[in-house]
Amino acid sequence: MRTEQSVLSVVVPMYDEEEVLPLFFERMHPLLDGLGISYELIVVDDGSRDRTAALLLEAARDWPQLRIVRLLRNSGHQAALSAGFRRARGEFLVTIDADLQDPPEVIAEFLAAVREQDVDVVYGVRSDRSSDTWVKRTTARMYYRLMCRLVGEEIPFDAGDFRLVSRRVVDAVNALPEDGRVFRLVIPWLGFPSAQVRYVRAERMAGTTKYNLSKMLRLTFDSVTAFSAAPLRLATWLGLLGGLVSCAVVIGALAVKLAGRSVPGWTSTVLAVGVIGAIQLLCLGLLGEYVARLFQSSQRRPQFLVGYDSLDDPGHHTFQETADAPDKDMP
Ligand code: UDP
Ligand code: MG
Repeated sequence: MRTEQSVLSVVVPMYDEEEVLPLFFERMHPLLDGLGISYELIVVDDGSRDRTAALLLEAARDWPQLRIVRLLRNSGHQAALSAGFRRARGEFLVTIDADLQDPPEVIAEFLAAVREQDVDVVYGVRSDRSSDTWVKRTTARMYYRLMCRLVGEEIPFDAGDFRLVSRRVVDAVNALPEDGRVFRLVIPWLGFPSAQVRYVRAERMAGTTKYNLSKMLRLTFDSVTAFSAAPLRLATWLGLLGGLVSCAVVIGALAVKLAGRSVPGWTSTVLAVGVIGAIQLLCLGLLGEYVARLFQSSQRRPQFLVGYDSLDDPGHHTFQETADAPDKDMP
């Protein structure tokens, strides 16, 4: 087992990335070796079902700094990052996607920035998103607008999960009691001194996006409910508005009745029922989001379970031999 302390930990979450994995390693390996500092590359295999696990084991054979942390099942991008944060031993930690959309060459700029400017966080900020599809760009813009409003101005616009943090930040994040943390919001929220490095986001080098619509919606709901009770207040305002509208409808209906011109008026009835019903359902749904969050955190279930860590397995055996003794990382 390697015991020496690494200066840099690079954390890469991977979910079914067999297509891009060889390209990623081809580019990453010489780059990390060339930095001239000790490092570990932690690949968090987020329960991949394709050949990712096998390819990782193969690559780790002649790359001692490559460390594989395999989660027992697909737990999501942010949970995989949490696993990396827990397990990293470096003085600095860089998180990067596997698809090479974030150019690994920028890591050297991150390190230079952290040393020159004496900061704890260096955000990679996309200066150009033209390589993303129109849908991705638009939904991302809406997401960041919403987040800036909810969390405050300090969220670096268009900063994803490509960044460097110091050990102080890693420890602070690991000490947070909350589950389902959204790193791109939690890290600015912690408020450590930060710097930014601009970079041009490339296209995904191979494979397809692992962020489907439901995962994107999940991230948005988690982001909103983790940081703001504003939607609950919105529900109150909508409820009040609905109440006022229904009052007006009732007064109108009574006036018509008293005037003796009682009309069949089922349209207005249907409309009123529809409007009020919609507002009530919306409010219930919003409440439900927060209740679900409370429920989940009261369960105190681990966000992920690590089935295998190559650090504990110097001979690089198979996953199955260690998978039955999962080590419970409480998030
Ligand atoms: N990812 C993961 N678990 C998931 C979904 C994604 O670990 O459930 C990883 C994926 O392998 C990649 C990163 O998260 O390294 C970002 O995913 P992707 O590039 O597909 O997202 P996009 O850039 O399309 O938003
Ligand atoms: Mg990507």
